Amino acid sequence: MASPVRKQYLEIKSRYPDALLLYRMGDFYETFDEDARLAARDLEIVLTQRDMGQGEVVPLAGIPYHALDSYLAKLVRKGHRVAIAEQTSEPDGRTLVSRDVVRVVTPGTVIEPGMLDSAANNYLAAVAQGGAQSGIAFVDITTGEFAVAQLPTGAVPQEIARLAPSELLLAEGGEIPAFAGMTDGAGMTDGAGMTDGAGMTGGAGMTECHVTRVNEASFAPNAARRRVLDHFGVRSLDAFGCEGLEFATVAAAVVLDYVGSTHMAALPQLTGLRTYSTDTFMALDPQTRRNLELFEGGRWGAKGQSLLSVLDQTQTPMGARLLRRWVGQPLLDLDALERRLDAVAWLHASDVRRQRIRAELAEVSDLERAVQRIGTGVAFPRELAGLRRSLERVPALCALTEEAGADLAWLTSELDPCESAVERIKATIADDPQGDVGQGRVVREGYSEEMDEVRLAAQDARSYIAGLERKERERTGIPNLKVGYNRVFGYYLEVSNSHSASVPEDYVRRQTLVNAERFYTQELKEHENRVLSAGDRLQELETAIYKQVCRDVASHASAILATAAALATLDTLLSLAEAAVRYGYVRPVLDEGERLVLRDARHPVVERFLPSGAFVPNDTDLSTDENQLVILTGPNMAGKSTYLRQVAVAVLMAQIGSFVPAAEAHVGLVDRIFTRVGLQDDLASGQSTFMVEMVETAAILHHATRRSLVILDEIGRGTSTFDGLSIAQAVAEHIHDASRLGCRTLFATHYHELTALADRLPRVHNLSVAVSDRDGEVVFLHRIVHGGADRSYGVHVAQLAGLPRPLISRAKELLAEHEGMPAKGRVRGKRPLPGAPSQGAMSLFGGVPPEASRILDELREMDLDNLTPRQALDKLAELREQAGES
Ligand code: ATP
Repeated sequence: MASPVRKQYLEIKSRYPDALLLYRMGDFYETFDEDARLAARDLEIVLTQRDMGQGEVVPLAGIPYHALDSYLAKLVRKGHRVAIAEQTSEPDGRTLVSRDVVRVVTPGTVIEPGMLDSAANNYLAAVAQGGAQSGIAFVDITTGEFAVAQLPTGAVPQEIARLAPSELLLAEGGEIPAFAGMTDGAGMTDGAGMTDGAGMTGGAGMTECHVTRVNEASFAPNAARRRVLDHFGVRSLDAFGCEGLEFATVAAAVVLDYVGSTHMAALPQLTGLRTYSTDTFMALDPQTRRNLELFEGGRWGAKGQSLLSVLDQTQTPMGARLLRRWVGQPLLDLDALERRLDAVAWLHASDVRRQRIRAELAEVSDLERAVQRIGTGVAFPRELAGLRRSLERVPALCALTEEAGADLAWLTSELDPCESAVERIKATIADDPQGDVGQGRVVREGYSEEMDEVRLAAQDARSYIAGLERKERERTGIPNLKVGYNRVFGYYLEVSNSHSASVPEDYVRRQTLVNAERFYTQELKEHENRVLSAGDRLQELETAIYKQVCRDVASHASAILATAAALATLDTLLSLAEAAVRYGYVRPVLDEGERLVLRDARHPVVERFLPSGAFVPNDTDLSTDENQLVILTGPNMAGKSTYLRQVAVAVLMAQIGSFVPAAEAHVGLVDRIFTRVGLQDDLASGQSTFMVEMVETAAILHHATRRSLVILDEIGRGTSTFDGLSIAQAVAEHIHDASRLGCRTLFATHYHELTALADRLPRVHNLSVAVSDRDGEVVFLHRIVHGGADRSYGVHVAQLAGLPRPLISRAKELLAEHEGMPAKGRVRGKRPLPGAPSQGAMSLFGGVPPEASRILDELREMDLDNLTPRQALDKLAELREQAGES
């Protein structure tokens, strides 16, 4: 027969079999049985045992309640779902305290500030997979953002990559969206084991994504629709824009169900649902996010070497999160972009204006997260005070932005000072609230007469006690008499044994120590009671007032959130303006045309890591009808990759509404940026280096349109030279000729043979990176010039990299031999290409296989004038035999 507490534990645990259960017992969260073993292992805490009564001894591991956040973070990071069972009744020492699970913490439902990145959203997403169409829904319960989209099934992986959710809900047995073309093991794998989830590390901008399987029942369309209608208390989904979008609605319902089952208190905070379309923004596949180093850059994926880190001059966490979203979601709509650019231009125009607005925004705290925490009743008093201080900045910000007129009207009209919420907080909460709610230092003095009286009484009693020591020492003549307090015995007067003879009669013994005795007096007890009951009363009064204020403020949530959104936008625009001023960016001219002109453009991140002025600016002029396909050649280390990326990044910046690092920029809007860069294995998904390269190339050729921008940094390097060159040339021809393509393309290559394409394809143009080579003294100029290159200086770079000297000498020798050779076997240098009109059938890439070249040599060397017919026939037979062998 199990003890009552054991029975209660087992009953709760049976309802959360897949979670690690933290069971509150007094000042500890305890784990038992297998959970205890897991917790001990993963938290590195001691595994002990506990006697549960009736002779039952079970494994136990516990953590102190006040350290919950840090342990929780560890457990969630290790992939556990953590159910927190709290005590839901006051212990009375007689009956069993009731307990229940108040939250199940999973990666997507974390609300603890210490576990969140203030500059990034924490998304929980769900995918409802259909046939051609699928639905995706995502929520950030810390900000209340909740949105859905219905989109082509093929676009789901991309959208997941954009959102980078920390947790993804999928139907049991449903397929994990395949990340076609991803090269870095971003394909999610289903996890086995206790959490039924798995960590997924993805491409650029993607952090760990935990896949959680959800019961199929949540995906039933009718019930799902009902679930969403009921949640919002509406009769149609028209107002949210998703009526009739079956898969989107199902995905939204799955999210609601999941939030309801893990963090009930967060549900009422989800008051709105936004339906969006992935068509309104530029799709960026995971490898392009990574290749352009939007969120992480450099060899080690450092955040500090990314485009975001250069552009991020935001003052608020809300602005930082929004800027991150903008960078990952370039727009396609010219009007929307011009609106952003007008605003950036207005902010860009005056330093004083920017400094003033910045100073105001610097006082604004994370309103979005604060509103959610206030609504769910977990906000700290200082968050309430922060909310008030932030909203108090709004009138000044309105005044500062007023003169922008139309340039900012769309934004400033959303700024609402939320006066009644501010007044409510101002009237009740201290300017600088201290300590926990209930200690009497949160509610402002003067707000509640009763609280003021109780505070006063407690103060009186405390000062009486404070003065008691001196008074009693005088009265009794005991010089070392002490007044003290402990939690079990309360206040006492302590007299050492050497003075026990002087203890007055009215002292009542409370406790005996080795060297001293502790006493109380009737008067002391009365004051102690006053202090204690004042403490209880203060706790009661202050908690009630605080909760009421939180409820009142939460009732203004939607107005505050709208203001927060406007402040975030202002902060983001200001950040773009600030970066533009600091680093010398220019407003791009945008249109719907198909030209791309950049004058003196730079790479915004690379230039930051070079000494000032060291970056060599370069020009670009691409257009679908003239310079459509640029073949860029040049030495290793010359700056080809940098150039390619700087063009793509400039377009991306222009299409988020940013100024661009150039002296002049004209961007015909691009529908998508595709990049194929470098060599990478995808061991996790079993793809070889070359396979990854080809899969990515195929994806580009299938999806690019005439309005796309394609960046190809080496194609065909992962295979034999002839295969590689053939593929590279065919890809270039296809991009040039295919009627659906013809898109603006930059193609960097070490296959110098490709430069010959410019002679016969009208829209191919050669560029190269200049290098100065005087008597073997090679200097990279990083300057892009017209025309092709015919040397790679690979050996030179190998030398710079520190390859052993004798090896370099040998390589130079071999290079000279190769270069000295006739066409035979040599692959470097420019020669006519196959497919070119002048091309003879024998000359494959200008070089021929050694066997064939032997035959050719013999043919050339035959002295026809002096051959008899018989000899000629024999020779012919011999050559044919050789040809047969080869
Ligand atoms: P490889 O063919 O070996 O891949 P690459 O031509 O692609 O080389 P990058 O990687 O683009 O060369 O550039 C090499 C280095 O040259 C960069 O890390 C940067 O420091 C410097 N660099 C590139 N472009 C410029 C520039 N325009 N001005 C100054 N320095 C530059």
